[in-house]
Amino acid sequence: MQNIPSHQIDIYPMQIDNMTDIIDMASDREQLDRENSLRAARRAAERELLSDTGRCHFCDEETLGIGRFCDADCRDSWQREQAAKRRSGRSAD
Ligand SMILES: [Zn+2]
Repeated sequence: MQNIPSHQIDIYPMQIDNMTDIIDMASDREQLDRENSLRAARRAAERELLSDTGRCHFCDEETLGIGRFCDADCRDSWQREQAAKRRSGRSAD
């Protein structure tokens, strides 16, 4: 029969909580770094791909000099399309 001193029982859950917090923070940070570098790489790739033609790159509407897309929906759709292309290109390797 094991005798666990009562003070150990008291601090044990707290130690576990702290450890989980630290691990959570570390993986949050890691994920953030990864997302940031992914985003930067994606932005650079899109900058190369997209020249300012005065027309939406997704639906071909005139953007009247406000950018490469007529609105955020088109930009998001275009990004999704590019992501899908990247995915299919990668799986074809
Ligand atoms: Zn558009």
